[in-house]
Amino acid sequence: MALLIQQRVERTGAAERPPARRAFESAAVCVDCVVCGSARSRLVCPAAEMAAQRRYLTAFYRRRWRAHNAETAADRLSFTQDYTTDIVRCADCGLVYRNPRPRTDAIMQAYRRDRYDDAYLRAEFANQRAWARRKLPELARHLRPLPGRRPRVLEVGSFVGGLLAEGRERGWEMFGVDPGDEVTSFCRANGLPVFHGTLEQADLQRDSFDAVVVWNTFDQLPDPHPTLEAAVGLLRDGGALAIRIPNGACFSWTMEMLPRLPRGLRAGLYTALAWNNLLTFPYVHGYTREAITALAAAYGFRRRACLPDTLLPPPRDHVKRWARLEARCYAWLFRAGWQAAATERFACAPWLDLYFERAAAEHPPAPAAADSGLGLIPVYAPLALRQTGLDRPA
Ligand SMILES: [Zn+2]
Repeated sequence: MALLIQQRVERTGAAERPPARRAFESAAVCVDCVVCGSARSRLVCPAAEMAAQRRYLTAFYRRRWRAHNAETAADRLSFTQDYTTDIVRCADCGLVYRNPRPRTDAIMQAYRRDRYDDAYLRAEFANQRAWARRKLPELARHLRPLPGRRPRVLEVGSFVGGLLAEGRERGWEMFGVDPGDEVTSFCRANGLPVFHGTLEQADLQRDSFDAVVVWNTFDQLPDPHPTLEAAVGLLRDGGALAIRIPNGACFSWTMEMLPRLPRGLRAGLYTALAWNNLLTFPYVHGYTREAITALAAAYGFRRRACLPDTLLPPPRDHVKRWARLEARCYAWLFRAGWQAAATERFACAPWLDLYFERAAAEHPPAPAAADSGLGLIPVYAPLALRQTGLDRPA
């Protein structure tokens, strides 16, 4: 197994570098904060520290994955945002982001060309479906379909279609959108309706969906504004926007802690981050609860709930038994951490599940489950908010 992984690492480091890394090396751009527009930022994780994390991650997968699943471990190593760069935090709103990074069109092109083999797609489908089974009851609590109608749910970044299949099992009308060539073909072969492209390109009926779900995708969007603008147009009044993101505040907090820890504990922190796919922070953006709330509010979304979470573990037969136990222990430690840290609980969670409601000026929303303190904001308010400066978080 070690040999296989090493071969893959060497391959991706030489002739067959992943598209995002090639794009980064040929044309990297410096960017401002995508939430508040500020150019002021603070370094959270320098490129040298990221390179050290990548070395640890190679050893992490080599020790824990079973030999016959070495390829899936290598896939996790060559994730899309795998170039080495600085990770910074916006000084004004707290957004964590890669800077510099490849151009927007190069990032989207890289997703389109993602390649997977059949066994990998099938294993991920089964895993994603089992995970969706646990997640859908919470989503169901935020749905308000028209009387006598089945809920209509759209997933942005539907990947292998596990959520689509599970929602359909519940009797919901499910639709997916994904720019990936292979995952779209895989879904269609399984009878799942998926549009091949981006949400902005999909010609879907306005005001027709009860929920738009963006799980494990929103953080990879180089520009989230067109997606939010399209989502608000597709949702009915009171429709739900469900977003799942890696927590930028958690990564930022652990990077601050790192230099203060003894060497032994640093390895433990690295392992905890690796089980949650936060080591090397392979995402374009790391939203905090506050930053994403402000961003969504500018499009007329009111936050109704924010739930801390850990990452879905890999398929059962992919990792060794002791490694699976280790993953469970770290998940338990994270949960204990956010239960104990009453006021800072959201900073301790590696992942966040957020539920927003599409507010409508003429129909005030029901009281929020987790009050955002942002009040009622009319739909299609982003331009007006930007002109008044009210979209800038305090
Ligand atoms: Zn900002």
